[in-house]
Amino acid sequence: MKIILANDGLAKEGITLLENAGFEVNLTHVAQEQLANYINANKITGLLVRSATKVNKEIINACPDLKLIGRGGVGMDNIDVPYAESKGIHVINTPEASSESVAELVFAHLLGAVRFLPDSNRNMPLEGESHFKSLKKSYSGGTELRGKTLGIVGFGRIGQATAKMALSLGMKVIYTDHHVAQANLDISFFDGQTVGFSLIGQDLESVLKQSDFVSLHVPAQEDYIIGAKELELMKSGSGIINTSRGGILDEVALVDALDNDQLAFACLDVFESEPHPEIQILMNPKISLTPHIGASTLEAQERIGIELAEQVIKLLN
Ligand code: NAD
Repeated sequence: MKIILANDGLAKEGITLLENAGFEVNLTHVAQEQLANYINANKITGLLVRSATKVNKEIINACPDLKLIGRGGVGMDNIDVPYAESKGIHVINTPEASSESVAELVFAHLLGAVRFLPDSNRNMPLEGESHFKSLKKSYSGGTELRGKTLGIVGFGRIGQATAKMALSLGMKVIYTDHHVAQANLDISFFDGQTVGFSLIGQDLESVLKQSDFVSLHVPAQEDYIIGAKELELMKSGSGIINTSRGGILDEVALVDALDNDQLAFACLDVFESEPHPEIQILMNPKISLTPHIGASTLEAQERIGIELAEQVIKLLN
């Protein structure tokens, strides 16, 4: 029987599919340093990970019987994909499964940030009883999303899912993407109606200059895409949301831009020094924070589990 180690967990729908196809699913979480030994000692054929487990050259070299590495999610920066493939190992991921979940998190942050919810949630438990009226005054100057411009940097799967939600809320959407010059978006509603939009890409500078809010949806890069120079180009009092990868937004420049009121707020699901975000980021009252949960809805985890299981069955059976 082929054994699959799901080191960062796997939704029960995926486990059931694999077991019904004759695989054994091992749900032990093995520490990074023990991983190679564990894979060899337990005759693991397929290793499934999310973002926590790193599958580098050392592990690939040490595990000659490993036939498949699966990433539940999109970004493959925790796996040495070219090296694994050069050794004949199948490397798979589930790029479609979590686009809507990440896009919804963008709006969870954005709708909260324009009404000061992150700071209000910090202060209401402390002062809500004693200083209700002054807190009410502090948080009364909120704004609305309808009619505002959302600039999207990176117009792939998640960027486009975010655009559809923004358009549905009555926002104007502009975008920049090296590879997507023009995009046709069909927004589907619950009753089967669809509305189509056609958008043309612009350069980064013009997107930054025109947007009330900027949302980042690019893959991991060598350098920052948004540093001090780019933050300076943004509208005064605007906001930025990063749910893509930590290293694309310069956090030192971000804190400066928030301190000097160039930006009104930032929303971060990903961090430069993940999993130990900087204290200056964590304590900043103008930053809305989540611990890299963009893809972590029950629905997305179910889709990821099923997609991974189906690919494993196809490739290893
Ligand atoms: P995708 O490949 O579909 O789209 C990325 C787009 O970015 C592409 O169209 C590409 O041309 C464009 N791009 C790349 N570099 C660019 C640049 N410098 N400037 C402008 N555009 C650029 O990817 P996706 O599925 O939409 O995922 C986007 C990001 O979201 C990835 O970084 C992924 O790791 C991240 N993500 C985060 C979570 C989370 O939990 N927060 C979950 C899933 C994905």
